[in-house]
Amino acid sequence: MTAPLIDPFARAITYLRVSVTDRCDFRCVYCMSENMTFLPKKELLTLEELDRMCTTFVKLGVQKLRITGGEPLVRRDIMTFFQSMGRHLDSGALKELTLTTNGSQLGRFADDLYAAGVRRVNVSLDTLDEQKFADVTRWGRLPQILKGIDAAQKAGLRVKINAVALKGFNEDELPSITEWCAERDMDLTWIEVMPMGDIGNENRLDQYWSLKDVRATYADHYTVTDLAERTGGPARYVRLEETNQKIGFITPLSHNFCESCNRVRLTCTGELFMCLGQEDMADLRPALREHPDTEAPLEEAIRAAINLKPKGHDFDYSRQRADGTMSRHMSHTGG
Ligand code: SAM
Ligand code: SF4
Repeated sequence: MTAPLIDPFARAITYLRVSVTDRCDFRCVYCMSENMTFLPKKELLTLEELDRMCTTFVKLGVQKLRITGGEPLVRRDIMTFFQSMGRHLDSGALKELTLTTNGSQLGRFADDLYAAGVRRVNVSLDTLDEQKFADVTRWGRLPQILKGIDAAQKAGLRVKINAVALKGFNEDELPSITEWCAERDMDLTWIEVMPMGDIGNENRLDQYWSLKDVRATYADHYTVTDLAERTGGPARYVRLEETNQKIGFITPLSHNFCESCNRVRLTCTGELFMCLGQEDMADLRPALREHPDTEAPLEEAIRAAINLKPKGHDFDYSRQRADGTMSRHMSHTGG
């Protein structure tokens, strides 16, 4: 029996988020600058190496795997990776294989994802207005995303919409986005904008719309009931009584729910971030590359890293810095 991953604060680590690429076909204003420099391809773990990493985490007790990026579905041959991870679902070791995507490639890949064992996807979508969508993503086109969502639902995937709450941008769309999700039987989660990475000329303090205010706006339109449901992350849920919809709020900045944190994040170069809000990371790539025939050094490196998982995060908008408290981009760790 392999001992599970338990950190120094007695938290079991059962959830791994994996960024499989730092590249993306969009340039969302809160996530990237327009002229991003991406990693040289040789820096990236190969799909086989990503498989070895994830398989080792699963062996150590990870039950949920979320594939993210950058945009995970723009990585070449990524379906072979999903298909390969499906074996851990078949064995029962993995309970869920899922992804977060901007939806641009779902039209191509929805059926393959379902066949690989994926049952739920999170699609990031901040507005239903075509012009505003083009503005916020810089490079994206809304009709393509809507087609992707159709394809996902048709394939049998349950879709959750993640919207970043942006002051003065999608505040007025709260009722229409909510109703659109209700009509399509999709859950909806609002995310507070986080101070990560240089994003060019955009000012994050201008973008910041507190989810307390989002919740208050809901209360103006609906009867809002708090739910006790927890997922080990910074999400909290309410139900809208009139539509019987569950709405999530991800508030890493204005709340601190670190005591129940069950997750770590692996980047596409093999760095393991123990906390989204801290710079500390462990480089797992040497343990992987220098020992191609045995996973024991990798297991040891993972356990050593988990021992360093901090108690909580360091985000703080009160510092009034607009240039990003964390120097790395969200696309590096995958959100
Ligand atoms: N490209 C995929 C997508 O957009 O869903 C996956 C990667 S993206 C980095 C993951 C999530 O992080 C998206 O929902 C995106 O909206 C969110 N995100 C990116 N930058 C953010 C920021 N600075 N603050 C809050 N959320 C952010
Ligand atoms: Fe790409 Fe997702 Fe970042 Fe937008 S949020 S630029 S889609 S990685």
